[in-house]
Amino acid sequence: MQIAIVGGGIVGLASAYYLSKRDVDVTVLEKGSLGSGSTDRANGGIRAHFSSPVSSKLSQRSIEVWESIETEFDTDIEFRRPGYLFMARTEETAERFRENVRKQEELGVESEFVSPERASEICPELHADRFLGGAYSPNDGIADPHLGLQAFSIAANEAGVDIRTGVEVTDITLDGNGSVTGVETSKGSIEVDTVVNAAGPWAAEIAEMAGLNVPVTPKRRKLVIVDPETPVPESTPFTIDADRSVHFRPEREGNVVAGGHFAEADPAQDPDDFEERVPLEWSAQVVEAASDTAGYFGPHSEIRRAWAGLYAVTPDHHPIIEETRPGFVNAIGFSGHGFMQSPATGQLVAELVVDGEATSIDISSLTSDRFEGGSPLSEGTVID
Ligand SMILES: Cc1cc2nc3c(=O)[nH]c(=O)nc-3n(C[C@H](O)[C@H](O)[C@H](O)COP(=O)(O)OP(=O)(O)OC[C@H]3O[C@@H](n4cnc5c(N)ncnc54)[C@H](O)[C@@H]3O)c2cc1C
Repeated sequence: MQIAIVGGGIVGLASAYYLSKRDVDVTVLEKGSLGSGSTDRANGGIRAHFSSPVSSKLSQRSIEVWESIETEFDTDIEFRRPGYLFMARTEETAERFRENVRKQEELGVESEFVSPERASEICPELHADRFLGGAYSPNDGIADPHLGLQAFSIAANEAGVDIRTGVEVTDITLDGNGSVTGVETSKGSIEVDTVVNAAGPWAAEIAEMAGLNVPVTPKRRKLVIVDPETPVPESTPFTIDADRSVHFRPEREGNVVAGGHFAEADPAQDPDDFEERVPLEWSAQVVEAASDTAGYFGPHSEIRRAWAGLYAVTPDHHPIIEETRPGFVNAIGFSGHGFMQSPATGQLVAELVVDGEATSIDISSLTSDRFEGGSPLSEGTVID
């Protein structure tokens, strides 16, 4: 069985790795360099705390892999677990978090609804008086997305996967019944039985080559490294001030990676031509908003480096993972969750391709027909 994976990001490489364990021939086709899409721009957040059960399951199964990656892959991905702390300023948001915490119990995710006082024990400089409470999940954390990508690419390579960079997929060929027969690339055509679309923000473009219309829209998101006035200890959780749409998490040497989406407008982006530079005004806005969240930040905080990347967003912020037409598998639309959920996704892709059905997790809710009058899912803890 010959499989071509379009995209050498974390989803494509995790899929390649798990497919390589199933005795099939796998080629990864990446038009740029590995990780050059969204993966190398991700924040590295890894959490099981979601309001949507299927998102939580994808993360829980993935975390089992992230936890054991050092022994299984002999790679340190700098996985550390200071937890996630979602803080609420309004009663409506607090109630949403209380409800989420109740759901986590059913899902087996450790979490607690915390009072402002308890929250300020967890995140010592938090301006507790501005909040009504929050949701804390102590086992969630952060890892380095590039190291995660490297772990999967090295393991896939060692397992015999043919990883080709600088090769662009330009078309997908189908037979008279609409089944996949091959891919056309900038370096010639390849006959395959199955194509896996793991093209991140380019996913809709690749799906269109197979005659499919998928609602995956690239949206620009930004992050900034800040050297705050008071160093932020590595034990500080990934802290989200939900009603102010600002977040920060510890980086090395007391710095943080911070972000937030403040603009009303959120236009679709061209993944080949979007503004990668980040205006200083936005970074200053993040620091100002964060200074209203916690006392680490103030006018003497220093902005170190900022960058922009793309979320690949579906209307309900959940991915599409399915064989959409014979021989064409989509693993797309991960919004801000594609890094953390990539191990489970890779396993599911291998099941779909080799066994013809996904068995490790019930992903029947993640098919693309949910957007055609079906019932889109909802998620109450999206981080922009
Ligand atoms: C600012 C920011 C912060 C984020 N933070 C987090 C976080 O904290 N946690 C988390 O889990 N996720 C986070 N994400 C989301 C995460 O980065 C993505 O969900 C994930 O990287 C998607 O991986 P992917 O492999 O699907 O896509 P990508 O990494 O984009 O890979 C797709 C690849 O396909 C290639 N490609 C496209 N078209 C073609 C073609 N025609 N031929 C060949 N190759 C092609 C591209 O070059 C690209 O390398 C964040 C994203 C951004 C932008």
